[in-house]
Amino acid sequence: MPDERLPTIGRCYACKRTFHYDPATVTMFLVDPETGFPPGMTVLGGQRDPAPESVRRAERRPVCPRCVEQAERHLAAQNPPEPRFPTWP
Ligand SMILES: [Zn+2]
Repeated sequence: MPDERLPTIGRCYACKRTFHYDPATVTMFLVDPETGFPPGMTVLGGQRDPAPESVRRAERRPVCPRCVEQAERHLAAQNPPEPRFPTWP
C-alpha cells in the first residue's frame, strides 16, 4: 500500500474557493448542513445554545488559510485583549 499523503481537495466553507489541504492540519469549521451555519449561530450571526440535533447533523468543513487569517483578524478586532489597568496593592 503506498504510504504517500495526497493532499485533499475541498471547497472552503467561507469563500467557496477550491483549495488543497492536508486533513491533518487544516482548520475545520463545524456547519449544520440544514442551516449552513455553525450549530448555535443564528441567521443574524448571534449565538444561542445549539440544538442537540443541530450538533448531531453538523459536518466539518475545511476553511482555507486565507479565510482563517481573516477570521482571526476579525475576532481580534471584535474582542480586543482585556485592557490592563495598574493595580494598587
Ligand atoms: Zn476561504
